[in-house]
Amino acid sequence: MQRREFLRTMGGSALGLATTGGAFAEDSVSGYVAPVPADTGAAGEVVVIGGGMAGATAAKYLRVWGGAKVRVTLIERDAAYVSNIMSNLVLNGSRTVSGLTYNWDRLESNYGVNRLRGEVVAIDPVAHRVTLAGGSQYPYHKLVIAPGIDFDVMPGLEGLTQAQRDAQFPHAWKAGAQTTTLWNQIRGMTARDTFVMTIPLAPYRCPPGPYERACVVADWLKRNRPGARVVVLDENPGITAEPHAFEYAFTKTHAGVIEYVPNATVYRVDPSIRTVYTAMGNFSGRVINPIPRQRAPKLLSDSGLVNDGGRWAFVDAKTYEHWDNGSGSGQARDVHVIGDPATHGQPKAGHVANQEAKVCADAITRMLRGGSPDDAPVTNSACYSPITFETASWLTAMFQYNPGTRRMYAFSTRSGASPVVEAPSANKDNFDQMNKWFRQLMADTYA
Ligand SMILES: Cc1cc2nc3c(=O)[nH]c(=O)nc-3n(C[C@H](O)[C@H](O)[C@H](O)COP(=O)(O)OP(=O)(O)OC[C@H]3O[C@@H](n4cnc5c(N)ncnc54)[C@H](O)[C@@H]3O)c2cc1C
Repeated sequence: MQRREFLRTMGGSALGLATTGGAFAEDSVSGYVAPVPADTGAAGEVVVIGGGMAGATAAKYLRVWGGAKVRVTLIERDAAYVSNIMSNLVLNGSRTVSGLTYNWDRLESNYGVNRLRGEVVAIDPVAHRVTLAGGSQYPYHKLVIAPGIDFDVMPGLEGLTQAQRDAQFPHAWKAGAQTTTLWNQIRGMTARDTFVMTIPLAPYRCPPGPYERACVVADWLKRNRPGARVVVLDENPGITAEPHAFEYAFTKTHAGVIEYVPNATVYRVDPSIRTVYTAMGNFSGRVINPIPRQRAPKLLSDSGLVNDGGRWAFVDAKTYEHWDNGSGSGQARDVHVIGDPATHGQPKAGHVANQEAKVCADAITRMLRGGSPDDAPVTNSACYSPITFETASWLTAMFQYNPGTRRMYAFSTRSGASPVVEAPSANKDNFDQMNKWFRQLMADTYA
């Protein structure tokens, strides 16, 4: 599939990104501001938990499509949001954490979203209300839960405090201070050192992200610490996303720098000798970047919403309303889960989270009008992966709803063609497109 076709596929999706007007400065967000209609026939209180890729998009589109009578309260615990997307490029010095930081000011000023700083600590799906850490409570007609993920503690690191783990063994799988710490550790490496990273069993946040990280770090080491190595310990049996691009990158572009080890189930990390013990052997390095296994946040398990593999919340992808998948969890009505904590058949990724949020906002708006949700939603996923400091690859797929399983499935409009399409090769043109795609995605989410 050529780039022209790829862009057409993205634009052709029923829920493609909204068009943004004009150019905007690197990493800042501005764009077309859709008006909030006075009355669409929909009315009600919607509470959104979490202002990341999923929650911020949902809050915005609930107002744009629902109108002024849909009152939206966005509850976010942090003062600002650091984008995970592009954060691997902090690890070669080409981006900074501050340049990847966003806020919710435009959602307030442009769309009348009521923003509240606080941490939700309890959800009562029966009484239809949430409780914040300070004890204040907020009732809702519809609740959208979008708090991202929690991380397991890496085996072997239980004896360290959270602060010690963050400082000595940063996973940097939630962008922020840990990302800068990891970059400083990489810069502290010499030409004789090894960077050892682990990849958790799927499903995890951003399937291509760890492989992308290996490439970016290898590229920087090759240029600045020639002789240094990257060891990739993958708990999965093989590369989980963009296998063509990453196999080529590992064996050709970064040959001799990256050692890729599949089936490397991690037994433990020994912090005193900086060694990772795995099913495929023991690996030591000056920098250890252990990316732990992931799960829906404790808030969801405490509220009885986790019903998929003890880790995730199963939803009906027609609306993203919580769904009883036969596990006996029961269904939490009027509770919608979007983004990384949910199971719906699509990858855990920011572009997809933006799409899920739109399907969810559309469904809630229709239901608040007394109607029915769209029964055949279509979404798309696009992801660019930097391979060097100036080249990138990409991956794209379209998904359609299956009412039998209530999940989304990748499909192709061409019979016999693979539903998931990779770039034929990594190049500079893709890298430039990646920067445009990112700015547009962030503008669609935060402006
Ligand atoms: C290194 C890396 C690279 C990536 N690259 C890409 C990429 O190229 N393309 C792509 O599509 N995806 C990428 N991703 C994945 C993407 O970042 C995530 O899938 C996406 O951020 C998920 O969105 P979310 O809204 O579910 O969670 P998040 O974006 O994590 O947002 C969750 C928000 O909820 C808030 N919150 C949590 N708990 C509470 C609470 N109790 N009360 C109030 N607020 C709360 C948090 O503070 C946070 O702001 C990447 C991820 C990583 C780690």
